[in-house]
Amino acid sequence: MSLEKKAAKILKNSKFVVAFTGAGISTESGVPDFRGPGGIWEKYNPEMFTIQRLKSNPKEVWKKLLQIEEEFQKSEIEPNPGHLALAELEDMEILTGIITQNIDGLHQRAGNSPEKVIELHGNLRELECMNCGIHISRPVEIKEIPPTCTECGSIMKPATVLFGEKLPKSALMRAHSLAEKSDAFLVIGSSLRVQPAASFPAKASQTNADLIIVNKDSTPIDGKAEVVLKGLAGRILPEILKNIEH
Ligand SMILES: [Zn+2]
Repeated sequence: MSLEKKAAKILKNSKFVVAFTGAGISTESGVPDFRGPGGIWEKYNPEMFTIQRLKSNPKEVWKKLLQIEEEFQKSEIEPNPGHLALAELEDMEILTGIITQNIDGLHQRAGNSPEKVIELHGNLRELECMNCGIHISRPVEIKEIPPTCTECGSIMKPATVLFGEKLPKSALMRAHSLAEKSDAFLVIGSSLRVQPAASFPAKASQTNADLIIVNKDSTPIDGKAEVVLKGLAGRILPEILKNIEH
């Protein structure tokens, strides 16, 4: 049996399938990577993007943030066949939820329900008030830099997690609860080398979920996985899907 077929069989026979996606699935769509070679942090100094710096020097930091965000909003960035396969798995009522480290919104654009996508690092669709905490959808163009809150007048930040900030508690709790309940856990495009990324499949495997790993490189938990598929998500996920359908 091929590995794709084995993965398909696991997914088909599971009742609570959760996917965890990292930068790998998005770089296949042309989204810039933060940490990799040629990534954002080779062009920009990460020290510029701490929450402390944004508070003390909002205008300067916001200008840089807008430059980075432009790289995420290039028109050629579209969901790839890997994203589309995950949307189809939800349509087939096989996939229960997605936990993602990505801020690009490509899962929702591919067709996954927004309420089923947990964004651990926030998103680019909204702004968040640094004082009262409200979220508003982001205007197409931010005219006033830094943008201020319509409720309390304080400075707003992007609704993404900056350096020096904790990951949003509610997203973390929802993600851990999904991982705990899962009976099949699909890791896609993450090398699982940093926390909390590694904690989700670890939790899933503790509660006896079958692990399936789709990634270019090996991960520290390959040995615990039922199936390890090395390569591009945009090639492998549609293959798995084909095996579910037939
Ligand atoms: Zn406010």
